[in-house]
Amino acid sequence: MSQVDENLAKVKQSLIKALASTKRSENECQLIAVSKVQPNEKLQDALTAGHRVFGENKVQEAQQKWPAYQQQFDGVELHLIGSLQTNKASDAVALFDVIQTVDRPKLARILKKEMAAQGKNVRLYIQVNTGEEEQKGGVMPADLPELLTLCREELGLEIEGLMCIPPIDDEPAFHFALLKKLAARHGLAKLSMGMSSDYELAAQMGAHYVRVGTAVFGERDYS
Ligand SMILES: *Cc1c(COP(=O)(O)O)cnc(C)c1O
Repeated sequence: MSQVDENLAKVKQSLIKALASTKRSENECQLIAVSKVQPNEKLQDALTAGHRVFGENKVQEAQQKWPAYQQQFDGVELHLIGSLQTNKASDAVALFDVIQTVDRPKLARILKKEMAAQGKNVRLYIQVNTGEEEQKGGVMPADLPELLTLCREELGLEIEGLMCIPPIDDEPAFHFALLKKLAARHGLAKLSMGMSSDYELAAQMGAHYVRVGTAVFGERDYS
């Protein structure tokens, strides 16, 4: 059993326990293994262990790793969880199953165009900047209604849910609660929230996807 295999089992167990503590069933929340920056051997360990749901934050990096694995392993579900530049939208639509970082009209329009051109429907989440941080991606909470209306009414794009990344030093519970409230208000079914340090809390607060990197693969080596 590899270290990654062991970590995956531990995280999944904690996730199930957290879900059970709030009377949610284990299939209500999926674990996205965030593989950005991690070496290929670790991805292979996770795939061999049977894990299929992964997250990457950069289109170019993901393009170098994932097409081969998508060929080799059935049922891979790849999520883009990092901000997307419009000039990479075409590549992102081709590679990913889910894009979680729709956050502005221009990007929504280009994604619509690309999905039509490629005849491929990518599942979409809107990223909300719940902490209203200037440098962070995501639509401001006050601008969410307008972006949703554009997606739904003008572009005919189905939005599956909302995603957030709480500010690093904030209490995450506040942000998870806000995201849940916004989703309920706008009739959105799914929430992507929670990372290595707070995925159990996120699961208890209603997450349908938690995005866990370090706790599955170990520290990222940027050197
Ligand atoms: C890197 C990343 C994660 C995973 O972070 P860990 O703390 O390593 O679990 C989750 N979500 C997003 C958007 C990320 O960029």
